[in-house]
Amino acid sequence: MKKHNFSAGPCILPKEVLDKAAQSVVNFNDSGLSLLEISHRSKDFVAVMDQAQELALSLLNLERKGYKALFLHGGASLEFLMVAYNLLETKAAYINTGTWSDKAIKEAKAFGEVIEVGSSKSEGYKYIPKNIEVPADVDYLHLTSNNTIYGTQFQQFPKVNVPMVCDMSSDIFSRTMDFSAFDLIYAGAQKNMGPAGTTLVVVKESILGKVSRHIPEMLNYQTHIDKGSMFNTPAVFPVYVSMLTMSWLKELGGIAAIEKINRKKARLLYSEIDLNPLFTGYANKEDRSYMNATFTLSDPALETRFNEMCVAGGINGLNGHRSVGGYRASMYNALSLESVGVLVDIMSDLERKA
Ligand SMILES: *Cc1c(COP(=O)(O)O)cnc(C)c1O
Repeated sequence: MKKHNFSAGPCILPKEVLDKAAQSVVNFNDSGLSLLEISHRSKDFVAVMDQAQELALSLLNLERKGYKALFLHGGASLEFLMVAYNLLETKAAYINTGTWSDKAIKEAKAFGEVIEVGSSKSEGYKYIPKNIEVPADVDYLHLTSNNTIYGTQFQQFPKVNVPMVCDMSSDIFSRTMDFSAFDLIYAGAQKNMGPAGTTLVVVKESILGKVSRHIPEMLNYQTHIDKGSMFNTPAVFPVYVSMLTMSWLKELGGIAAIEKINRKKARLLYSEIDLNPLFTGYANKEDRSYMNATFTLSDPALETRFNEMCVAGGINGLNGHRSVGGYRASMYNALSLESVGVLVDIMSDLERKA
């Protein structure tokens, strides 16, 4: 049966990417060797790393603007720490829009003063704080563009005169925007780019080197820039698969092309959530995410039946995060409009039968 994978992460990847990735494990580039058993300093892998970096910058339209793309270890969670290690001298501003922002804030507090310039924590993170005011003397503003767990997303970003750092783990490469408004962007690969195991960091080199503390080599962005993201052995397979996904996206027409499809998918699902009396959306409408739609069944007694219908329809990964409950449909780039259609049909079928 065809599966429709709505998993929040690790997430669905394009079929042709998986096929190429599988091939590379057995026989990479017709070399007779596996990608997993060759040197990361071999010509073939260096080409993969170069291409991955180029593709990231070109998709984000950040080429020749002083940015570097890195593929690091440690997930987005390590970036919570590295960002503060490298950029926080005295004070930083954070917007708290969910569990991930909250964790970033906790890590930053070890390095200096942290002020929360906006928070929706007391309201269960159902909305995105607006009219953010950021003091001019902070080292940077940190925000999370898409809140994977709660299903909210910044539709407009604050305009500030300090460096902006953004955790884009769950909506990188999903929608067009002026990426040059950000000085540092990071994203764990496993939400919208590739398998778990590598993290994309895109950083404007000119913001580095301004803190007075000693930064351990492995945690210093400059180390990884100087070594072309090969200071130590990179996660060769995750980097390769991320590169394949980025070239798949580029061939499709880039972010502008996928954004059109992503908006169609989200419109289709949210209109069902809003029209079907059995379902209620979790996030405030104006702040809804185009990647992760969160919703609940109004009558919990219908859960078993709905879950069974989902299984029968090949729907996978629809459970809400354990901290929110309910349902969460993650509609990352590789998920087709057709798969959303299958879910929506099941939802309306439930209404007819209930
Ligand atoms: C999943 C997620 C993280 C954590 O990513 P890891 O790579 O598991 O550390 C951080 N931020 C956001 C927005 C996420 O969705």
